Amino acid sequence: MENNRVMKQKYKKNIATAALIFFVGIVCITIFQNNKKRQATQSLFAMDTYMEITAYGKNSEVAVAAAAAELQRLDALLSTGSNTSEVTRINQQKTANLSDDTAYLLERSQQIYQDTQGAFDITIYPIMKLWGFAGDTFHVPTQKELDAVLPGVDMSVLCYQKENKTLTIPEASAMDFGGIAKGYASDRAAEIIKNYGIESAIMNLGGNVRAIGTKTDGSLWRVGIRTPDGSQPYLGTISVKDKAVITSGGYERYFEENGIVYHHIIDPKTGKPAQNGLVSVTIVCEDGTTADGLSTALYVMGTEKALTFWQQYNQVFDAVLLDEEGNLYVTEGLQEVFSSERDYKIYRREK
Ligand code: AMP
Ligand code: MG
Repeated sequence: MENNRVMKQKYKKNIATAALIFFVGIVCITIFQNNKKRQATQSLFAMDTYMEITAYGKNSEVAVAAAAAELQRLDALLSTGSNTSEVTRINQQKTANLSDDTAYLLERSQQIYQDTQGAFDITIYPIMKLWGFAGDTFHVPTQKELDAVLPGVDMSVLCYQKENKTLTIPEASAMDFGGIAKGYASDRAAEIIKNYGIESAIMNLGGNVRAIGTKTDGSLWRVGIRTPDGSQPYLGTISVKDKAVITSGGYERYFEENGIVYHHIIDPKTGKPAQNGLVSVTIVCEDGTTADGLSTALYVMGTEKALTFWQQYNQVFDAVLLDEEGNLYVTEGLQEVFSSERDYKIYRREK
């Protein structure tokens, strides 16, 4: 009898323990699911564009706020439109000790300048000002006006000492990181978001998209590439995980005079809007800084040179190019992840 009672008590205790474990398990799963579903979004205006950051999971609110603060910080540092930015100070004083961010961007810009044989050149600023893209009043410069400014457009004459991060630029030169800053900012913001333990987030910095991890259900993010005239459907969509998808297009900033459209992506050799056959260039790359620099550079190069350049660097990036005739080229690395209702050509690696 006594034995039986002890057995029964033990049995009850086991049931109670099992029930408790089950209950705690359910609570944990629910918290985990709720954390996964937790979503935070923040919109902001920085670097002359509307940006939106969305993150999922535990800490998403603080992660998104910290990323937004970083984007604002970099805007204040790099903006040519601000009187107090570091870039404006360098452009005015012509010599400076660079902050870590600016030094890094300058070094990356120098590398891209070399790799692209000058198609990407941050000393483009005097030309941007001449055309009015740096302000509000647009102007089509005469050849004489261009010739007066073009000698200052040459990255190779910047005097930069890497050891102590000092930079001296010629009197006629001025810098503009507009072709690369958003890509860099997206890298920095992504790093901050990941440091909060976030495994799923997406950022859109005015058409420059940065995917962190996958969607919460494990599927890939689908990034749409807009058509230059804004009509639907998209040029195509690219499914990605942990990648930057960055597009350059003349349609992003332009003005029209006497029926001619002048856009903001300048060929440094001529000082005029690049007209080498491309109307949209999308770069897909793990590194946003590279993607941004190359989207501008390949736009300047034009179709043929851009595709040859890709052959040389096809381990680093992939691209979607749209030319003036409406031909759409998609490089081989994207063939499984690109989809479009339009016809397109897969451009393959040379053996
Ligand atoms: P994106 O939209 O990335 O192609 O950048 C365009 C911006 O980059 C322009 O508004 C200028 O600030 C700057 N830019 C224009 N042409 C060039 C160029 N050839 N090299 C570097 N930056 C450029
Ligand atoms: Mg760019």
